[in-house]
Amino acid sequence: MSSTPRGSSIAAVATATSLSLVLIVAGAGRSDAQLADASSATPRTSSASSVTTAPRPTDPLSASPSQSTSIGGPSSGRVEGAIALPSTAPGLRSNPLRPNPDAIYGTVELVRALVRAAAVVHAEIPGADLVINDIGLPNGGPIPHHGSHQAGRDVDVLFYYLDADGAPFAAKGIPVDPRGRGWDFADLADPRDDVRVRLDVPRTWRFVQALVQDDLDGQGALVQRVFVAEHVRTMLLEHAERARAPRAVRDRFADLTCQPSHPHDDHLHIRFFCSTEDLQNGCEDGGPMYPWRRQQLREAQVDPVRARARARTREDRGRTTSQREAATRAGEMHRRVRAFLDERATWSVQPHPGRPFCR
Ligand SMILES: [Zn+2]
Repeated sequence: MSSTPRGSSIAAVATATSLSLVLIVAGAGRSDAQLADASSATPRTSSASSVTTAPRPTDPLSASPSQSTSIGGPSSGRVEGAIALPSTAPGLRSNPLRPNPDAIYGTVELVRALVRAAAVVHAEIPGADLVINDIGLPNGGPIPHHGSHQAGRDVDVLFYYLDADGAPFAAKGIPVDPRGRGWDFADLADPRDDVRVRLDVPRTWRFVQALVQDDLDGQGALVQRVFVAEHVRTMLLEHAERARAPRAVRDRFADLTCQPSHPHDDHLHIRFFCSTEDLQNGCEDGGPMYPWRRQQLREAQVDPVRARARARTREDRGRTTSQREAATRAGEMHRRVRAFLDERATWSVQPHPGRPFCR
């Protein structure tokens, strides 16, 4: 990427995303087809040409949850009546440089949950936007760069970041180390344009708290999983304790989060359970099942439906970036980039002691 022009924000984002591709290289060999998604990678291909039935934009806050139906499981399903994430909403921005430009569609429940949680952060800690990467295609189904994201219930959300002075730094897919620090390397071959950033723990926590609290209050969509690196999980929970966040929310978040083999140190991958209505119309939940979920289904008098294992072709899984492609795209890397990647390998291999990878 050394020939990439600098000075425009688009170039900056595009080069930052090349790091994410390098990170796939670093994570390769332990690749988990279901989760090896390139959240912040900029693709060279688009599925736009195959999309013929894009739904019209709908206000997520006034849409009825009955409008959308998630069908099947996260890695094998589809969605009917999906709605589009607005390009902007209070405290929220859809990333135009997402891996798949069309992947802004999800269930009403998912889109509404994001809009509501981002609005809470915006009201309480204004000054930064939540940046949303891929959700799913208009009708769901296989999607490039992801193993799941097929049934309208998965979304990749970038962290909030701060710059060295503590001011909000526009989110990109920047991996953070166990102290919450990272670099916006921009041009990977040029050390002079590197910018030190760190994870904005208070805003990132406030977002996940709002998301979890929404469903604890019986209003929102029920989060099933947050896939994120163990050290980010630890930082968020330590902050939540210091900030005296409600115990029920902290416990729920601790229950929900785990590190997949692709470590997710530059974004949160959030997965929602089927709504009880969708469960009766073909929606299937993958694992895990929790006691509180069983209880919720009992109260709704709905039987759980487990996603069936299906033989999956490479196409079903969505096309992910190969190691060679990532290396080719990344091109030349200066010393600090390589050092960061070496360090990163240590937290990709072994998650936090005592905590296993996501099943
Ligand atoms: Zn994802």
